[in-house]
Amino acid sequence: MTRRRSTSPDVNLNLNVRGLKQSATLAINERSAQLIRAGRQVYRFGLGQSPFPVPQPVVEELRANAHQKDYLPVRGLRALRDAVAAYHRRMHGIERGGEDVLIGPGSKELMFVLQLVYYGDLVIPTPSWVSYAPQARIIGRQIHWVPTQPENDWRLMPADLDRVCHEDPGRPRIVILNYPSNPTGDSYTVDELKALAKVAKKYKVILLSDEIYGELHHRGQHVSVSRYYPEGTIISGGLSKWCGAGGWRLGTFTFPGSLRWLLEAMSTVASETYTSTSAPIQYAAIRAFAGGTEMEGYLMQSRRVLRHLGRHVWRGLRDAGASVSEPVGGFYLFPDFSPLRERLARHGIQDSATLCERLLDETGVAALPGADFGRPPGELTMRLAYVDFDGARALSAAQQVPVDQELDRAFLELYCPNVAQAAAALANWLKKLK
Ligand code: GLU
Repeated sequence: MTRRRSTSPDVNLNLNVRGLKQSATLAINERSAQLIRAGRQVYRFGLGQSPFPVPQPVVEELRANAHQKDYLPVRGLRALRDAVAAYHRRMHGIERGGEDVLIGPGSKELMFVLQLVYYGDLVIPTPSWVSYAPQARIIGRQIHWVPTQPENDWRLMPADLDRVCHEDPGRPRIVILNYPSNPTGDSYTVDELKALAKVAKKYKVILLSDEIYGELHHRGQHVSVSRYYPEGTIISGGLSKWCGAGGWRLGTFTFPGSLRWLLEAMSTVASETYTSTSAPIQYAAIRAFAGGTEMEGYLMQSRRVLRHLGRHVWRGLRDAGASVSEPVGGFYLFPDFSPLRERLARHGIQDSATLCERLLDETGVAALPGADFGRPPGELTMRLAYVDFDGARALSAAQQVPVDQELDRAFLELYCPNVAQAAAALANWLKKLK
């Protein structure tokens, strides 16, 4: 008897993958590009990509290293690992050496490998970045969403983390803390970090501190939680956000000595999968992590533009009736339109997916629904990435404005026109719905 082949090939997919779609951030980006190609005006607030160019010295270093063709060590180039450790010492006051650092093709891949090698549940606050949970699902780990409240600007509260861990105190867990936050743009105070670290220590969880937006704290005041729970914290970082190099795909994990076994297990998996991270990119990254006045100037102006722009959009949303917390870092806002629920319902909008669909359709503003970040589908939240502007142009214009001066509305409308227009379009749309 001949074996019958299934007519639908996807029935043979791994059960953990079946039904999963392309990651929301990348899907909205490709959809926006398609609409633009078809002649539509689209404000690209979907994908969280840095608007700023890669700093010139780092680009030059990449150019100078284009000839680097050899496979590099699985854990990363030693000089780069040393540079990352030195960066953490300088910026965060954390004593680490190059042997504590693992380089990977993006921190996203490193997060996946960590979840693969460590047998534990994933604990994440809701809302959280779109990919943590799908990664756990692909690998087959349990996911625990920890509730947060809008009154606390959606921050993870120590008591809520304690409650989840207390249910089964000895259970192995990875807790992900991400701040400045994707999707909310908020961050934690030192006291809050200390309190969270205390809970993490009590239950001996692996604390994965996703600090990829740390350098984009709008006032340059990022503090790493690993100071308060060094033995259990892995710091996740990379070039994508503060160095404008998302497409270069370079991420870093920095471990304490007590978790060296995890670094080793991860590099075994790396050696059997991606082998090592692109050689020219690693050479160039040394320059980025080395810092210096040029990098400092670039970061200072990037933060300044984001601070003023973020507050401009935030004010517009608030005045239009949304409930939204003031941005502290990064380039996201997470407005909640539930104060306008009745008005939206009259127009058939009762969930975040419909809200984003209609917004895109009727105004051209592409954003992501709160449901993609683990919020209940019926909640009227969305993530806006205020990155649709020419960062090179905005940076050089900002350099001409004395640092003690505001980048005012006229500046923002001139140099970040799409962001300013989209904020106005969104407010008008809400007003017109009646
Ligand atoms: N982290 C960015 C975002 O949340 C984009 C990169 C990605 O999702 O892979 O939009």
